[in-house]
Amino acid sequence: MSCKNVAEAISVFQAGPMQDWFENHVVKHPTRGKIPGKVFLKEPLNLTGAEISLGSIPPGEGVPFIHTHKQNEEVYIFLTGHGEMLLDGESHSIEPGTVFRVATRVERTWRNTGPVPLTYIVIQAKTDSLEQWTGEDGNITGEAPWA
Ligand code: ZN
Repeated sequence: MSCKNVAEAISVFQAGPMQDWFENHVVKHPTRGKIPGKVFLKEPLNLTGAEISLGSIPPGEGVPFIHTHKQNEEVYIFLTGHGEMLLDGESHSIEPGTVFRVATRVERTWRNTGPVPLTYIVIQAKTDSLEQWTGEDGNITGEAPWA
């Protein structure tokens, strides 16, 4: 787990292998105490338009609280494991590759129901803030050296 600013315009964070996220990362939350298996990337990467976090929950465990957001919608991208996502009390199954978008007011919590770590990425971005994307925002500036 390390971060270095390669240049003013670039930040790099090394989270390590997904199977080690639970052991290697912990967040000190202002009201919930220590949250193992979680790392927020806004500060190490100097993010300016979104908050991104990485998470890992071991078999048999789950997020112990329900939460909503004030102004950020969230996208949950599940990478490994199986689980259950409760959205306003409604159960949704989680498999590798399951992606949820959750609006601010929706009460959410999730748990691991399988035998391997449930690993995931969460992206928070301000609702209705995206003005251009994909080909509208990207500029192709040349051919890659391996093209
Ligand atoms: Zn959240």
